Amino acid sequence: MSKTTETEPSAEVANPVDVFVMCVACDNRGKTWKGSDPKCAFDCGVFGDNWNCATVGMIRDICYEGQSSIPDGVDYQYCEDDKYATIKTDDIDIDGRPLALWVSWYKSRGSTQAMWLLFDSGPPRHPTELECLLIVDFYT
Ligand SMILES: [Zn+2]
Repeated sequence: MSKTTETEPSAEVANPVDVFVMCVACDNRGKTWKGSDPKCAFDCGVFGDNWNCATVGMIRDICYEGQSSIPDGVDYQYCEDDKYATIKTDDIDIDGRPLALWVSWYKSRGSTQAMWLLFDSGPPRHPTELECLLIVDFYT
């Protein structure tokens, strides 16, 4: 009788952050601060509940007043502490050809409250990670 000599895979425990599905940017960045763990916005495939998601952070970087100059095609506004931006997307190859991505957040908090792709007809929908990356790529 032969006996297998294969060894079991290492039982090393992964960093708890790594066991959740997350976007590539969150995975590459990891956790670089003390305090609460990040919550990736794309763990269900499309934008959802989030905190310090790296892909969402890249979107906010192109539409926030902290920038030295906000790119053409991005309209940033605020009302009290609510911030929102409309990012023109009609030159970007996104399914359904949305006119814009609408983004809102509160102060400089890590949670981004809303992200909607807006169309000339039909209802808005949440963007995917890939669609956000196409937008970031276009504006940076
Ligand atoms: Zn993420």
